[in-house]
Amino acid sequence: MNNNNETTYDVVVIGGGIQGAGVAQAAQAAGYSTLILEKTDWAAGTSSKSSKLIHGGLRYLESGELSLVQEGLQERALLLKNAPELVHSNWFYLPIYKHSNYHSWQIHSGLTLYWMLSGFHEESKFEVVPESQWGELDGLETKDLQKVYRYHDAQTDDAKLTAAVIQSAVSLGAETCCPAEFIKAEKTEDGYRVCYKTSPDKNSTQTKDENSVSCRFLVNAGGPWVNHVASAISPPPRSIEVDLVQGAHLILDKKISDQCFYLESPTDNRAVFVSPWYDKTLLGTTETLFEGNPEDASPTEQERQYLLDVLASHFPEYDGNVCGEMAGLRVLPSGRQKHYHRSREVRLITDQPRRPHYLGIYGGKLTGYRATAEKVVKEIGETLGVPENWVDTKTLPLTVPTT
Ligand SMILES: Cc1cc2nc3c(=O)[nH]c(=O)nc-3n(C[C@H](O)[C@H](O)[C@H](O)COP(=O)(O)OP(=O)(O)OC[C@H]3O[C@@H](n4cnc5c(N)ncnc54)[C@H](O)[C@@H]3O)c2cc1C
Repeated sequence: MNNNNETTYDVVVIGGGIQGAGVAQAAQAAGYSTLILEKTDWAAGTSSKSSKLIHGGLRYLESGELSLVQEGLQERALLLKNAPELVHSNWFYLPIYKHSNYHSWQIHSGLTLYWMLSGFHEESKFEVVPESQWGELDGLETKDLQKVYRYHDAQTDDAKLTAAVIQSAVSLGAETCCPAEFIKAEKTEDGYRVCYKTSPDKNSTQTKDENSVSCRFLVNAGGPWVNHVASAISPPPRSIEVDLVQGAHLILDKKISDQCFYLESPTDNRAVFVSPWYDKTLLGTTETLFEGNPEDASPTEQERQYLLDVLASHFPEYDGNVCGEMAGLRVLPSGRQKHYHRSREVRLITDQPRRPHYLGIYGGKLTGYRATAEKVVKEIGETLGVPENWVDTKTLPLTVPTT
């Protein structure tokens, strides 16, 4: 309690996507009393609308983001070990056609580098699929097909993974409040005073209660809302300009394959994945500049057509139908470069360079959430000091959420 009889936490986290969940888990594991606030539901934002891959990101090799790829591969290995019920390895098939943008030697070099960056992990081994087996590739177009590689990567259920990390944070002693909408925060002598509104449940029409707590460190994990959240903090903390780039997925009612396919769009050479999603198929994704309220993100007609064209050009005989769709928003540094080539590295922005009391998380990957949280906790430690007894999140198991 502080002088106003408000509860004081070491850390308050705003946003219950994968990044906020990861920080709540890591901060509590490090010994800081932690509260996480989520306005809608765990993983209600981007963290339930990703491509659901736990990977280093083969395509990021092209833009030279080697450390991002290496970190992703290390986190993949940890998740396969710590969360076997939630993350599983799968084959990814990568076909190369006569008209493909990449030659097979380029793919071969990329996959070799991917394997090296994984520390020659068994999970990253790759091979060429013999031509005699092309007919068993679930209807993949074989006209003009020159070579097919297959390599291992991993898949998850992103919303369940987020809920599992929240469950782990709670088991360590973190407090959660959901639905709880962050309204504003004001700087105090030794941290922030945070105001938020709660309602009994997310569908409730009852008036929301206003609450306030104090914290010594405030973490903004608002995802696409990160700058909206930052703008409600006084004085305004440092922030960076971002573009929100929409990625759409379609859900197809018939499963194409138990394995994944890494395809090249015939129109712009972007990577598009076809992967099993329970008894259905997930097809995505796109990159469309988004302007407006993040709540309103939804696939456009152009995105639907783009994805269906990629599907038709690779699986011409597929006769399933679209039975669902979703769109998530990437938080990318604003700039002139094409979205596809912009850095996927996470950026951590603090209110001051030394002994900060606030940190905003910009961008990042689902796969790298734990590593990001570790970096955030390091920043927290700069200000709050490092508690004596802390638990390394590398060792924490994650299990299927019970609620
Ligand atoms: C199309 C697409 C595909 C992707 N595919 C992959 C992939 O396959 N693998 C991978 O590793 N990464 C992938 N990513 C990246 C990954 O999904 C994101 O980096 C990650 O989900 C972002 O998590 P987050 O917690 O930052 O944001 P979010 O999940 O959006 O969480 C932010 C949360 O903050 C809450 N919030 C906002 N304002 C408030 C407020 N005022 N009060 C309280 N709560 C608030 C929101 O409700 C939301 O739940 C993909 C991204 C996209 C867009």
